[in-house]
Order: sequence, then C-alpha cells, then structure tokens
Amino acid sequence: MKEISQEINAKFLELGVEIPIEDIEERLDKMINKFKVPKEEARRSVVNYFLKEYNIPRNDFYTGQSESPQKKVSELNVDGKWVNVKAKVVQLWENTHESISQVGLIGDETGTIKFTKWESSELPDLEEGKSYLFKSVVTNEWNGKFQVNLNKSSSVDSIDEDLEVGTSTATFTGAMVDIQSGSGLIKRCPECNRALTKGACMEHGKVDGIYDLRIKAVLDDGLTTQDSIIKREITEEITGLNLESAISLAADALDQGVVLEQMKKILVGKYYTISGSRVERYLLVDSIDERTVLDQVELDELINAAEVV
Ligand SMILES: [Zn+2]
Repeated sequence: MKEISQEINAKFLELGVEIPIEDIEERLDKMINKFKVPKEEARRSVVNYFLKEYNIPRNDFYTGQSESPQKKVSELNVDGKWVNVKAKVVQLWENTHESISQVGLIGDETGTIKFTKWESSELPDLEEGKSYLFKSVVTNEWNGKFQVNLNKSSSVDSIDEDLEVGTSTATFTGAMVDIQSGSGLIKRCPECNRALTKGACMEHGKVDGIYDLRIKAVLDDGLTTQDSIIKREITEEITGLNLESAISLAADALDQGVVLEQMKKILVGKYYTISGSRVERYLLVDSIDERTVLDQVELDELINAAEVV
C-alpha cells in the first residue's frame, strides 16, 4: 500500500500538486481494508478523489502531460514556473537583440509584466492593444523583477475579449529624506513627453522643451526607503509653488536649480503618506498627505519604546 501511495504522490507531483502521502494512505487503507475494495479499483478511486479535490482534468493525469496552471499577472512572482495567462499587449518596446522577436509589456486587471518573445519560438507577431491567451509561458526573475518568456513550447491564441489592464497600487508612510536631481522645474520633449537631460531627449535629440514640475522623492520609514515620482498638480499642492511662479523664480535667479533648492527646503524632513501605482521601483504618487499628527497607534509605540529605554 505504501508503494501505491508513493506512486500516486509522485504522479501528482509531476502535475505540480503535492498531496501528503499520509492522506493518500489513509484513503487507500479505508478502501482496501475496511471496504475490501480490490487494490487496482481502490487506486483508481483514490486518484479520482484527489483529481476532483485539486481540480485537475483527468486527461492530464493519465496522459502525464500537465496543462500549465492559469494564472493572473500579479501571481507571476515565482521563478521558473510554466503558466497560462490571459493578457493584453499593453506596449511593444524597441527591440535591440536579434535573438528576440518582440519585447514589451502585457497586463490583466491585476497588473502588468514584461514579456520577451524569442525568435526561436517562431510565434506570430503580437499586436499592441490586442488580448491573447498565452499558453505554456515560463516565468523568469532578473534582479528581483519578474518577466515571462515565450519560447518554443509556448503558444499564443488571440481572444475576442478586450481585457482591462490594472496597476498594482501601494501606500507608503515615511519621512522625505531626499529629493533627487531631475526634480523641480524640468523640461519635457514635445514629441514623447520624456524629461530632457541638458536640453536633449534621449529619443529625439535637441528639442524645444516644455516646462513642467515634478519631484523624484525618496521616503524612509526607518526600515526601508521608497522612490517616488510626484507629478505637477501634486507638486504644486504640497510646495505651494505653481508652474508660473517656478518659471519666474528660475528666470530671476537665471538658474533652474533654485526651484529644486526651494522645494527641498519646504519638503525634506517632513512626514508623508503617499499612495499610487507601482511601476518598477517607483511609486507614481496619486495622492499625498502630510502627517503632522501621529495617530494613536504610533503614539502608543513611541510611549512603549520610551518605557523600554
Ligand atoms: Zn522625445
């Protein structure tokens, strides 16, 4: 009976499901010893029971070919897993490597993830804005970030649904400890909206930039830091400086840098709660609250800490 249990356990493991041997043995024992069911019959019945329990198609089990599990984009956070995922092609990026056929972002309502379609996959070209069922794609981790690879074993079917694409949102509370360069009064490319560096866009070269305000801030909660990007409306709200006054401030000083200095004076050292969508290591701030008063929980913690000392 131990042998049969181990066989069943191993077969399920191949399909990515771990069933404790004791559970299998217990059921087998009941069938064989209590109900006097013949061994082979008992084995089939126990297998069927667990197939149902774990929602595995019978066919997968008996052919030994596992259908990759269907996952949401936000669940693609384990390295080296074969999955199926329904997602929309959000962006196609410029592809610089000859062994890659397409690269970009796909997403569903739970978030977005980078994909790489390798030339060797011989899969058809994906279109931006279209939704697909990606089958047997494999997850991969690089520098703490996840992506999916479309390779020879993968398949792609376009689907009629127009999937909604969501972003993962996050909230962080901490002291603003730094405002990075590229903040304050900046200029953007009129073509692609990228921030200019020394008057040039990395895509379009020297252009006549358009003024904007933004802050790239680092918040620290004592345990970790969070990089954030604060767009113009919210920058104006928390600094009290609007775009026009920032431009004239810079014009008076003949130096764009004074705006950044001014903002640092106003903001650094204060506590904020920020929330917004997470894009790579940044939190794109949708709302911000200055924390002038500590709430009761935080007060209690401070008092406790003081008592310990
Ligand atoms: Zn540009």
